[in-house]
Amino acid sequence: MNPSTISEFNLTVKLLGRTPRTPFTIKTRCPDNSPQTLIADPVFWEDGIWKPFPPFIWLICPRLKALVGVVEQNGYVKKYSERLKTDAAFYELYLEGHKQMIEVRLNLARRIYPGILPEHIETILAETSVAGSKDLTGVKCLHSHVAQELAYHNNPIGAEVLKMVGNCSRYDVCGSIYLDKEE
Ligand SMILES: [Zn+2]
Repeated sequence: MNPSTISEFNLTVKLLGRTPRTPFTIKTRCPDNSPQTLIADPVFWEDGIWKPFPPFIWLICPRLKALVGVVEQNGYVKKYSERLKTDAAFYELYLEGHKQMIEVRLNLARRIYPGILPEHIETILAETSVAGSKDLTGVKCLHSHVAQELAYHNNPIGAEVLKMVGNCSRYDVCGSIYLDKEE
């Protein structure tokens, strides 16, 4: 599910708001066929060296980005931080999903990197969340949780937020809103 055309690449850049720093894969699409979530290459070649890139999953559907932003404004970042500290079953589920994502990201890095993944890169990728954070229970932003749930169905925070805002349907105009403005 890589962007297959120049205009699809341009649309993705527009939805992300900038040119991605590393190569990426379109992981899920909205019903209007525009990119919904992206997976970034966890290692990339820049300035003559290989570098790690921890922020792994990106939510780029403009509809979901806006609605998840409203949920954040309603205090849910703090609510989920608290929930992770007080609800052991919820935390277990969350941790399980996190561990799965670490494996997925490390396996991808090992496929991309030529040879054996250097230890310092492996350590960084093993010790950060898919949002690139070192603090596991400090929920900073709900977007990456929703993206992880959409892409891998293993994030209980993302699942609850998605229930609140509803996944995109064929009645929604998502990224395709930008298509008419393509050159
Ligand atoms: Zn959408």
